[in-house]
Amino acid sequence: MKPAITVLGTGRMGAALAHALLKAGYSTTVWNRTIEKTAALAAAGATVAASVLDAVEASEIIVVNVTDYPATAALLRGDVASALRGKLVVELTSGTPNGAREAGEWSTEYGVTYLDGAIMATPDFIGTEHGTILVSGPRQPFEQSKEMLQALGGNVQHVGDDLGLANALDSALLALMWGSLFGALQSIAVCRAESIDLGELARQWTATAPVVEGLVTDLIKRTEAGRLAADDETLSSISPHYSAFRHLVELMDVRKIDRTVVDGYDAIFRRGIAAGHLHDDFAALSQFMEKAG
Ligand code: NAP
Repeated sequence: MKPAITVLGTGRMGAALAHALLKAGYSTTVWNRTIEKTAALAAAGATVAASVLDAVEASEIIVVNVTDYPATAALLRGDVASALRGKLVVELTSGTPNGAREAGEWSTEYGVTYLDGAIMATPDFIGTEHGTILVSGPRQPFEQSKEMLQALGGNVQHVGDDLGLANALDSALLALMWGSLFGALQSIAVCRAESIDLGELARQWTATAPVVEGLVTDLIKRTEAGRLAADDETLSSISPHYSAFRHLVELMDVRKIDRTVVDGYDAIFRRGIAAGHLHDDFAALSQFMEKAG
């Protein structure tokens, strides 16, 4: 027998979560501040609750997906709190590690079981085998609700008992994502300045992406192992990286392209080189990112 599930928040992501639950055969109650956004879910078989309290009372498992933790707190920490006692709240709203830990403390005080999740996917991945959701918090409720969580994302993973871990990993992975996205903005600016067709950039990126992915994976592994000095397996030391980087900066200066992003890279390169790491593995730069310079 599948448990009934309530979803609070049916924006882009919350709606995808609720649709995935319905598709997997869960009796699903939804609530959204703007009720019009629940129409498609009602048509798909969801029960639309008139209030947060009604929504919470309808199920033993409450999935929350709103904009941020203050919005969640505003929904759950008033009159609704007593109705949550003994229930499981799965917070899938994005937040900080300390935000999740604080919510966990509040939940313990009010007799609520709490899991905190980070969705590492866009709504189109929800309900598919490739949807990744990282979950932290107590193991037992995770195992008990795992089938439901897998209906949301086929690749759901418990990353630890510390409630802050899912959000911490989320931020770490988003740092990688924004590195790529801001890098793409930089590439586009260079191509436009040099009259290179963006279709050509897309084609060449497809060919180059596996090389970049290999470098990122190697960097993480070498840093974990503390292999910061160059050795036989070093793919590239800082020296050739910095030479190529200077070419980029020169081109950008000639074309008067905004340097905001690359100036940050330059500062890290310079710190590493000044500390004598020019001929060490690129992983040596990891030491200069861990504390504010
Ligand atoms: P969205 O489409 O803007 O939806 C935001 C939702 O939060 C809406 O349901 C909105 O209600 C509700 N909300 C905001 N403030 C509220 C308040 N004070 N009280 C009650 N409800 C409130 O955003 P989204 O893309 O679905 O994102 C929702 C969460 O998922 C965010 O934490 C986001 O970081 C996370 N996430 C999103 C993605 C993605 O690709 N979209 C990926 C990973 C994680 P109204 O409809 O009434 O405005």
